[in-house]
Amino acid sequence: MLNIDTKIEEIKKVGPIYLKKLHRLNIKTIRDLFFHFPHRYDDFSQISFINELKQGQVSTIQANVVEIKNTRLFHKRMVLTEALVKDDTGTIKVTWFNQPYLIETLKKGELVNLSGKLTFTKKILCLSNPSYELAKKDTIHTGRLVPIYHETEGLSSRYLRYLIKPILYLTEQIDDFLPNEIKKQFDLIDLNHAIEQIHFPNSISLAQKARQRLSFNELFLIQLTTLKQKQKLNQETAINIPFNEQLIKTFVKNLPFKLTDDQKISAWEIFQDISKKQPMNRLLNGDVGSGKTIVALMAGLEIAKKGYQVAFMAPTEILAKQHLETFDQLLKKYKLKIALLIGSTKNKAQLKKQIAQGKVDIVIGTHALIQESLSFKNLALAIIDEQHRFGVAQRAKLQKRVYQIEDGLPTIPHLLSMTATPIPRTLTLTIYGDLDISLIKQLPKGRKKIITKLITPNNRQKAYDFIRKQIKQKKQAFVICPLIDESEKMDLKSVNQEYEKLSKEIFPDLKIAMIHGKLKSKEKEEIMKDFKNKETDILISTSVIEVGVDIPNATIMIIEGADRFGLAQLHQFRGRIGRSTHQSYCFLFTDSNAKKTNERLKAILTAKDGFELAEKDLKIRGPGDFTGLRQSGLPDLIMASLDDLDLIKKSRKAANMIIEKNISNLELENKLNQFQNTIHLE
Ligand code: ADP
Ligand code: MG
Repeated sequence: MLNIDTKIEEIKKVGPIYLKKLHRLNIKTIRDLFFHFPHRYDDFSQISFINELKQGQVSTIQANVVEIKNTRLFHKRMVLTEALVKDDTGTIKVTWFNQPYLIETLKKGELVNLSGKLTFTKKILCLSNPSYELAKKDTIHTGRLVPIYHETEGLSSRYLRYLIKPILYLTEQIDDFLPNEIKKQFDLIDLNHAIEQIHFPNSISLAQKARQRLSFNELFLIQLTTLKQKQKLNQETAINIPFNEQLIKTFVKNLPFKLTDDQKISAWEIFQDISKKQPMNRLLNGDVGSGKTIVALMAGLEIAKKGYQVAFMAPTEILAKQHLETFDQLLKKYKLKIALLIGSTKNKAQLKKQIAQGKVDIVIGTHALIQESLSFKNLALAIIDEQHRFGVAQRAKLQKRVYQIEDGLPTIPHLLSMTATPIPRTLTLTIYGDLDISLIKQLPKGRKKIITKLITPNNRQKAYDFIRKQIKQKKQAFVICPLIDESEKMDLKSVNQEYEKLSKEIFPDLKIAMIHGKLKSKEKEEIMKDFKNKETDILISTSVIEVGVDIPNATIMIIEGADRFGLAQLHQFRGRIGRSTHQSYCFLFTDSNAKKTNERLKAILTAKDGFELAEKDLKIRGPGDFTGLRQSGLPDLIMASLDDLDLIKKSRKAANMIIEKNISNLELENKLNQFQNTIHLE
């Protein structure tokens, strides 16, 4: 007896070859099979008479086989199957290629359903290559809405239909985890009904209802996950530090520049959060170069002056060092002990001891900050720069550094994460639903708009000439190498090749350096220092390594193989330049002449800011490009429904209802646990 959890190899139709293919799609049980959804349907639901058929139209007929035969085509190695079929209104010819076995099924005299397109073949109107099956009451491949699955791993839609349809009755064993009142309030059909209808819908509208219900499932589970996380966090305690107006006012007054309004608002929101006992969980989202560091620094200053510790984690050593410089410089007057903790830090043991004793006020570092062996005396604020470069677990680790305060109450630090990846609203309402968000939308005053150009192969030389001229005027350039694949080895190769090309062929007269992940930290440091001190003209880099570097004199950005990058990512690279009052230029090199690619790239020439690009990216490439999401194991359906703002809002409302009314049942708990195990939001 089959049941919903039966392994698929126990279905007779699944032989060893198909089993392998199914396993490759992670389909192991009948339940998995049911959760492998079609992506569209062929509408073969109307049965037409033969005399109604029109050329070029897809239709289904029901007719008797009058004759059927195979012919081997002479030159080509092909078998042509030709049949003549007849209904009450006429006869028509039907042809198939390379399916000689059909004559075993569609025998003379059988009543068959045929769905396909009417076309001219050798001047005769015929149905060519139609879907076929013997006419029964309950058809699978014809005479209905027919599901079409993504045909990966050599699994045809026909095979999947043949597998699923006869066991579809098992859907009744699927427990629905959604409480009835939610289903009622949000007009959702039952889960087993939805599964049945998503595969073999009785009508288009039922197919839509099924899809809605199933998309809702996933969105709702995300919402519930993030809201519960938020709830859990709210039950923790953090150190509350009242806003020190005098301190901050004086600091701001002495800055070499005026803060933008958005910087002020963001800082204000952060100060508000910090003054509460509930731990802050805020994301500071601002375009590259919008000045997030200074906002974080102000929060750090306030906490440190109050006698508590601050940890500031950056994804690369270069960036950590750059932050250290900024902090040292701007906080010189405040007599704070600021230290750097990275892989190559000397006397690490001693520094760790000082941190544990509370002798260090602000620790800036890399992943080294989340090592088990590091403890703080009284960490009250954790800052994570370029947060998308860290895994969720790593982020959580920094915040989970609990310590005891005097009366024995455990506290966790406030958390401020920062990113320049603009996050569309649909994502802030789902994946990032547990975060409060501060936005910096404006760039500091006086920045000139970066001139961005798309460079196709025949414009290359002109672009190189222009770049040379700029460099002769003492400007500097970044070159980002194309993204080959995720492997560091290939990245290295691509940097080396670019270096050879530029230093030998294109710019033999200029000073060129390259930087990549395989270099020792000391070497990277030297290279960055030389570039900063204008000892090199051009710095070639892999795409992954140098986020966030601040070199105002670099005013040229060349991106090789620009078509391989997402728009948001290109925008990030571009943010490395345009950091001074000089005019900056970004050249997107592409070897692709494909119109579509170039259309996409043109968006970056016209978009007004990173947010607009992010929305476009989300539409064009899906949410996988919002770094980390692709690896998060989010089911396809979520991916697809992440632009359905309506459904997202509904699911959020529903999740809120569950929490407020404290609705709970075993199925829901189980489902939520299972969901949280498959995705990696936490
Ligand atoms: P990001 O948001 O990309 O991290 P940074 O914090 O590195 O940007 O700031 C980029 C540059 O802009 C830095 O050199 C910083 O000193 C400068 N900056 C920050 N805020 C302002 C401002 N309000 N006016 C002028 N320059 C600013
Ligand atoms: Mg930054």
